[in-house]
Amino acid sequence: MRIGVIGAGQLGRMLAQAGHPYALQFRFLDSSPEAPGAKVAPIVVGAFDDAASLRKLSAESDLLTYEFENVPVGALTDVAAGRPCLPPVDALRVSQDRILEKELFGRLGIPTPPFRAVDTSDQLHAAVTAIGLPCVLKTRRLGYDGRGQAVLRRPADVEPAWARLGGVPLVLEGFVPFDREVSIVGVRSTRGETRAYPLVENEHRDGILRVTRAPWRNARLQRAAERHLRRVLDHFGYAGVLTIEFFVHGGRLVANEMAPRVHNSGHWTIEGAATSQFENHLRAILGWPLGDTRPLCPAAMVNFIGTMPDRGRVLALPGVRFHDYGKVPRPGRKLGHATILARTVAERDRVLRRLLRLVPR
Ligand code: AMP
Repeated sequence: MRIGVIGAGQLGRMLAQAGHPYALQFRFLDSSPEAPGAKVAPIVVGAFDDAASLRKLSAESDLLTYEFENVPVGALTDVAAGRPCLPPVDALRVSQDRILEKELFGRLGIPTPPFRAVDTSDQLHAAVTAIGLPCVLKTRRLGYDGRGQAVLRRPADVEPAWARLGGVPLVLEGFVPFDREVSIVGVRSTRGETRAYPLVENEHRDGILRVTRAPWRNARLQRAAERHLRRVLDHFGYAGVLTIEFFVHGGRLVANEMAPRVHNSGHWTIEGAATSQFENHLRAILGWPLGDTRPLCPAAMVNFIGTMPDRGRVLALPGVRFHDYGKVPRPGRKLGHATILARTVAERDRVLRRLLRLVPR
């Protein structure tokens, strides 16, 4: 079985690594021949919307999937006509537009912050009046890792935010003074079998995920998250892994966004769960039985952003696994991560504090 992966970043690389024990063959499409996936499988070098490159990938694959959220949907719809492409392109289309995504959440009974579409300066002022301060202005499309956002706290913040972000479709949403951020990674197979990992707690800085603690135990919110997840999965007739990020506020879940792919907040599952999110994504799109999503022990994941820490010092910590994506360092770039496995939550948190001291902040 040959699997074509659109995008050869670290997510694609970890997908291929999860598929190797099953003798699955991988081929990537990416604009950079140096992308992390290129070190583990052959790569077609080309733009994500280049019809010839997509056709080449498609011709060399039995099944297509994607690991990158901003793949142009038009180009993908064309290749999907010739080869199965999972998760469904419609889930990608909705996830690329923060308004379509929030409208879908609303239709499925999943709470979101209040929001308004904003295309002009007048609409922005009207939306700020309707939603109230503080609020968050975001680009509707092509935003990730906190790029293309501004928090508006005072009336004087409105014009500078418009000057910085205006000119493309925007969304203004209420600022959620959350107690914590959590996410749920779920998976549905082509046969309709569905499983969910436990909720995990995520810490972001500058909009980029820094630390995930798994699992985050809250039986009531776990049930709510699984209910929300299942509605989204069933809505799309989904196959593959899908992640929903939530704010926890006032004892409730408020959805922030979804990602129709394997997710950074699921990296801990490689060593910390009975089956990793990457393996389950492959099982799901191949129509194989899904693997157990049970956590094996308390775990934490720390991203290495911009610079790598000293490997020897990280490996000297007990129960730590090290992942280097082999990328050229650049500020704000995800270069690798480490996963801590511990017998108890207290032990995990002790090792986590030591690990964080080794990671440039
Ligand atoms: P996003 O790109 O939407 O995932 O936003 C990146 C991060 O910005 C989130 O993980 C939050 O930490 C913060 N953030 C985004 N939207 C809001 C909001 N409406 N209220 C409070 N914080 C937010």
